[in-house]
Amino acid sequence: MRIGALEAGGTKMVCAVGDENGKINERVTFPTKTPATTMPDIFAWFQEREIEALGIGCFGPLDLNKKSLKYGHITSTPKVSWRDFDIVGYFNDLDIPVGFDTDVNASCLGEAAWGCTKDVDSSIYITVGTGIGVGIMVENRLLHGLTHPEAGHILVSRAPNDDYPGVCPYHREPFFCLEGMASGPAITGRWGLSGDELKNRPEVWGLEAFYLSQALMNYIVTLSPKRIVLGGGVMKQKQLFPLIREKTVALINGYVPLPDPEFFIVPPALGDDQGIMGAIKLALIQTQTNLP
Ligand code: ZN
Repeated sequence: MRIGALEAGGTKMVCAVGDENGKINERVTFPTKTPATTMPDIFAWFQEREIEALGIGCFGPLDLNKKSLKYGHITSTPKVSWRDFDIVGYFNDLDIPVGFDTDVNASCLGEAAWGCTKDVDSSIYITVGTGIGVGIMVENRLLHGLTHPEAGHILVSRAPNDDYPGVCPYHREPFFCLEGMASGPAITGRWGLSGDELKNRPEVWGLEAFYLSQALMNYIVTLSPKRIVLGGGVMKQKQLFPLIREKTVALINGYVPLPDPEFFIVPPALGDDQGIMGAIKLALIQTQTNLP
């Protein structure tokens, strides 16, 4: 089967054609400009390759309610030209099943289908980069609801010695959210240098782990994941993993029995391909549900 996958991001659009096993046979990247300039190239690329199904993992927020008139739309994004854009409907003329979910849910699904969470039915995938997003799988289903989880905006307690106000415009003092305090822009904003330039500054990563472990503690007690995957640009700083494991175990404080932290809090297994492979899986699931 020729399966199309689109990983729609704020700066680039990754398009791929793969198969039922998640193998990617061809891929191309287009810069994310406006729908009018970017989408025709993407449509033509998929049309030429005669794909039989398409999966889209997309930056949000999105309307994922299949009963809604705006199902398949990007909704209130700060990227003005994409606001209210019907990205699923754009592919109607291909007349194929189109699966659709958030970029982080797609990443969660990719790791669950072919990566480091394939042996568990409940997991979460956290991307820590320009923003913080969380994809959530509960008993083999991606979690949706009122909209979709926005768990990067979970509130965290600010460290006593940290006077950084955070980068999130929605959650300001006296409340602080995880994305505001621990995303890549928050690290750069607080310390005045990029993550790579701060690599050998232990206080930077101790503070980063302070915030991320609070979030993990909250995800563990509410979502009960069997494994937690931490990806995204900030998590390329591998020294964070032991710090986050240690602080998370300390916060849980024995209340929930945890697996061996080395196998419970892990890096992704699919490199940077979990999003595009997850989009392939979204297409496959849509094909199986037989609801084009
Ligand atoms: Zn926030």
